[in-house]
Amino acid sequence: MENGRQAEDRETPNALSLSYEEWEKLAVEVWEEPKFRAAQVCQWVYAKKIFDCHEMTNLSKPLRERLACEAPVKLPVQVGEQKSKDRTRKFLWQFEDGARVESVLLNHGTHTTACVSSQAGCPLACVFCATGQMGYERDLTAGEIAGQFLLMEKRLGREVNNVVYMGMGEPLLNQKNVFASIRALNHPKMRGLGARHITVSTSGVAPGIKDLADFEVPVRLSVSLHAPNDALRNKLMPVNRRYPLPTLMDALRYYKKRAEERVTIEYVLIDGVNDDPQLAFEMATLLDGLGFYVNVIPCNPGAAGARPSEARIRAFCAALTELSIEFELRREKGADILAACGQLAAKSKPLDP
Ligand code: SAH
Ligand code: SF4
Repeated sequence: MENGRQAEDRETPNALSLSYEEWEKLAVEVWEEPKFRAAQVCQWVYAKKIFDCHEMTNLSKPLRERLACEAPVKLPVQVGEQKSKDRTRKFLWQFEDGARVESVLLNHGTHTTACVSSQAGCPLACVFCATGQMGYERDLTAGEIAGQFLLMEKRLGREVNNVVYMGMGEPLLNQKNVFASIRALNHPKMRGLGARHITVSTSGVAPGIKDLADFEVPVRLSVSLHAPNDALRNKLMPVNRRYPLPTLMDALRYYKKRAEERVTIEYVLIDGVNDDPQLAFEMATLLDGLGFYVNVIPCNPGAAGARPSEARIRAFCAALTELSIEFELRREKGADILAACGQLAAKSKPLDP
């Protein structure tokens, strides 16, 4: 399932791409130091957000020098930031090779959620999605994904409570690196973020959903459905031609059997396209007996698609209520800063790498 193209951390590995086991190996086998050096370094990076090894004062000077040469922390450069009225913050980052991605920091009162990108661009070309219309550039490395989270946490100045893989790209087409970044964010001696505070969102890459069900970190799953029948879904989301609804539903039933967490279904309402209340009835049949939770999200004006009128949104929601589908109408946060991912990157030109 890998797209395979990525700017792998070139000559020296990015420290943020290392697993805890790799840190321990480095400490013992390369530095010939005790194992706990791994925990010390990870504490600086993941807990204290100190990325410059010269500031890691409980390490010897020679070790700090080695760290700087052999496993430096590589972070993207921030090339943009927007703040919305509801305190949503959107960041634009640029990596060494010039690739740009966005991340979003969402505020829910005392809690904060970081939305990270998994690919620069996306190969799946959903018609309503700004990222999809940009095309695919490359996969992000594990360190480039974890780095977005850590930098936002550093900028915020306090702990971020949740991470969602809902930025640019399809996480389950960059599975190896996405899973590695999840392991790092979750590991108790690294960032220690609870599995239930981590959500992967997919457009419906069925084999990846099964792999996620078998993954040792029991993260949450969100599925972007947007249409309850193959004819409409094929038009909106080309991924559906590869994994049509029967295949997707089969993977979701497998996931439900394996995972305790229930699945969230995302349904972006697009004016005159998928907002007919009749489609709510079809969705009820499709999801019957699975106990999934539906998020209804009025479309952010994207590549193709307008937000339905309030009356149409209400009519669709009324049908869901009548069908006893558990749902929430989500007002897109940060709508005034085009927080739907891809919209900032699409409008900007890269700096010279
Ligand atoms: N590729 C994954 C994760 C990234 S997209 C996926 O598709 O699930 C994250 C979410 O943003 C998806 O639910 C996607 O459908 C949604 N999205 C894309 N364009 C949007 C728009 N114009 N308005 C509202 N949501 C949008
Ligand atoms: Fe890719 Fe998700 Fe956008 Fe579709 S909605 S193009 S899968 S990022």
